[in-house]
Amino acid sequence: MRRKWLAGILVVGALSVVVAVGWLITSMHTWKAWNLPLSGRVLVVDAGHGGPDGGAVGGETEEKEIALAIARDIRNYLQEAGALVIMTRDSDRDLSDEDYTGRHKTQDLMRRARLIQTSSPDAFISIHMNAIPSARWRGAQTFYHPKSIKNQKFARFIQDSLKKNLGNTDRYARPIGHVYLLKKAAPPAALVEVGFLSNPDERHLLIQKNYQRKAAHAISQGIMRYFTSEKTPADE
Ligand SMILES: [Zn+2]
Repeated sequence: MRRKWLAGILVVGALSVVVAVGWLITSMHTWKAWNLPLSGRVLVVDAGHGGPDGGAVGGETEEKEIALAIARDIRNYLQEAGALVIMTRDSDRDLSDEDYTGRHKTQDLMRRARLIQTSSPDAFISIHMNAIPSARWRGAQTFYHPKSIKNQKFARFIQDSLKKNLGNTDRYARPIGHVYLLKKAAPPAALVEVGFLSNPDERHLLIQKNYQRKAAHAISQGIMRYFTSEKTPADE
């Protein structure tokens, strides 16, 4: 009689362990999916310009440096969210060959486009700064190619996040037809002009590490919300 009791207790005990382990695995899986919203996603992050191509200039500041710093921060945030991130560049260079006799900018852009296409990412994001002759204009702005509604949705999420997190831009996400990489990249794709180097106040912000991080965080949040939210923010 006692043996039967003991066997019974052992069976119940073993079953409890199986159930508990099963529950633990399920809840860990749920936890992972909840905490890593970009798990299994591939994203290409493009830091504009690089090497001999400094991009826009404001004061002593070159666009290429800030673009790379922000792109790296975006990579870190996206990786923390579980994404596999491919950078078009991760140092001060462009993608053209030094001894190339043609137009370096063309070779550079064609190689970036090829890298995006061969990576077949879930999303593409390009980081730039603006500079114009007038010092008056400021504010981060997101651009997208109008060929797909996915591009518009993606750009609106990013712009909405920039507005809320930076609190200093009232610009809208806008379509743009002539940006080569946006034309070539499969949707969703967007380009962020994080600010105007030609505006001294904004330039002062853009060279600061914590502002670069804040902007990168805002952009990453927008990307994450695109993949996890249903409702696109209104463009207003
Ligand atoms: Zn640029």
